[in-house]
Amino acid sequence: MKTVGVLALQGDFEAHRKSLEQAGARAVEVRTAEQMHSCDGLILPGGESTTMLKLLHLENLIEPLREFGALKPIFGTCAGAILLAREVSHPQQESLGLLDIAVERNAYGRQIDSHIAKIDLDANTRMEAVFIRAPIIRRVGDSARVLARHNGDPVWVEQGRHMVTTFHPELTADPRVHRHLVEKLG
Ligand code: GLN
Repeated sequence: MKTVGVLALQGDFEAHRKSLEQAGARAVEVRTAEQMHSCDGLILPGGESTTMLKLLHLENLIEPLREFGALKPIFGTCAGAILLAREVSHPQQESLGLLDIAVERNAYGRQIDSHIAKIDLDANTRMEAVFIRAPIIRRVGDSARVLARHNGDPVWVEQGRHMVTTFHPELTADPRVHRHLVEKLG
């Protein structure tokens, strides 16, 4: 069975663990580079990306993350997607640049801080998705692939071994996103 690490500096480990187990993988909490090395893939969960960035620097995890990402899949949800993006705006912020996307933080505005929506996987397939102070993906590079859209904006994107969602698939019972991650594990 494959092991997926969930970065546990901030964010929801338990919900991801349940989704990963449903998708047929084992979940472990990751707080150090050593713990990261024992994993086949990694999840950067939602939370607050500025805080997560500070904690990643504090724990000396930026370089290990880049090295991990050069070899193995990383899946970023919401704040995790912001950390993986190439460009971040509103406000601008350092990021790992592992996916060629540009994201605008907190882009749905204050009135709709959080919402549940049906997103489009293709013309005939929809999925329920939970958005919490989510970013909007404003640009997708040529080598990245959009797997789902909401109101026409990309909300699930993959590029090579990595992927991001601007929503929280760990908060619904639908295992499709975590299953896709597990399929990507070497
Ligand atoms: N608004 C957060 C940020 O900009 C992300 C929110 C989330 O992860 N649910 O980092």
